[in-house]
Amino acid sequence: MSDAPHDVPVPAPGTPVALRGRVVTPRDVVDDGAVVVVDGVVRWVGPVAAAEHADPAVAAAVLDAPVPDPGTLLLPGLVDLHDHGGGGVGFPDATSVEEAMVAVLEHRRHGTTTMLASLVTADRETLLTRAAMLADLAEAGEIAGIHAEGPFLSHERRGAQSPDDLVPGDVALVRDLVEASRGHLRTMTVAPEVPGVAGPEGAAEALVEAGVVPSLGHTDATTEQAEALVAQVAAGLRAHAAEGDAPAREMTATHLFNGMRPLHHRAPGPIAACLAAAARGDLVVELVADGVHLAPATVRSVVETVGADRVALVTDAMAAAGMADGSYELGPMAVTVRDGVARLADPELPEGGSIAGGTAHLVDVVRSTVAAGVPLVDAVRSASWVPARVLGLPDVGGLVVGRRADVLETDGDLHVRRVLRAGLPVA
Ligand SMILES: [Zn+2]
Repeated sequence: MSDAPHDVPVPAPGTPVALRGRVVTPRDVVDDGAVVVVDGVVRWVGPVAAAEHADPAVAAAVLDAPVPDPGTLLLPGLVDLHDHGGGGVGFPDATSVEEAMVAVLEHRRHGTTTMLASLVTADRETLLTRAAMLADLAEAGEIAGIHAEGPFLSHERRGAQSPDDLVPGDVALVRDLVEASRGHLRTMTVAPEVPGVAGPEGAAEALVEAGVVPSLGHTDATTEQAEALVAQVAAGLRAHAAEGDAPAREMTATHLFNGMRPLHHRAPGPIAACLAAAARGDLVVELVADGVHLAPATVRSVVETVGADRVALVTDAMAAAGMADGSYELGPMAVTVRDGVARLADPELPEGGSIAGGTAHLVDVVRSTVAAGVPLVDAVRSASWVPARVLGLPDVGGLVVGRRADVLETDGDLHVRRVLRAGLPVA
């Protein structure tokens, strides 16, 4: 083994291991801080100067920890709600768990220690087959579940979704998908105006009943249509949570602004409804804040308007994340990546068609968000604590005592140095 400073030996059971740096907790940044890990769980977090008051084993571990390089940041492992792949593999096209793991590890090595695997609109057989394969990964603890982006989406606002496979809301397909995913389908993007989605006995109702959270997106809805779906789902989720003892789940908007009718003052569309719903606590809005999908000022304004607690930063990454420019697939659609920007390949448009997913890792999105003027603590919170809460996962998403020791160490510019998942180094 090399003696590079990145190497973290696996400690003996019960042995505390401390890391030092600027620690980003859900609420603030501790400038000269430490995180102490025991048996894969966070045991202690605080200022180095306070460690002497902790129990002797913690105090000794902090005293023993190497002094970090200036600027070193310790972040919680990041949580991505919307991710189609990376490392050359897309979940919508992967045919084995081994292949899908290439994408999972591509993101994990860059600090995303919890993620949903996102599918795209495809024919029924493909969706059921992929869901069954990804359920194996969820059962193995490698992903937190599955996000189905489609197929009950707007033709007008389909973005890179396959037009041939868009269908009206179909309760039978929801049930089959839930069954194929063996309970690991977590979210599904739906458009409220598509027939068969909203209202009694629609797809949204079937999703909530199955414990799957509808995510509003790829929609040409009016404000009123979006408001009605949010009201229906919010009430449904509250009723569903009251029945069981599982943590309450939260509705999301799939990449707010992208794949939606734009906000116009005489035709405000779904965005106005989403912002209002987020501000009152009924919705969390995803932002693909990668510097490509949204202007920095849009990101900054939304975080200031609804608060970091109502924003989930996502990558919407596709197979090209972490890879060179070139030709890729996103489900049934051909995609060309040029200068890191993925667009639908279109022989009639030399510049390419609609943006077709992202190529960033979530830590890059955090960096872009900070560069847009969002405070570091808020950007990190929206990429860890908030999405973990959305998924109802109380054990990840924060450098908080008792949570899984998922730790991302970066330099002062958020470039990844090492990643721990449950206290173990991610190779
Ligand atoms: Zn997507």
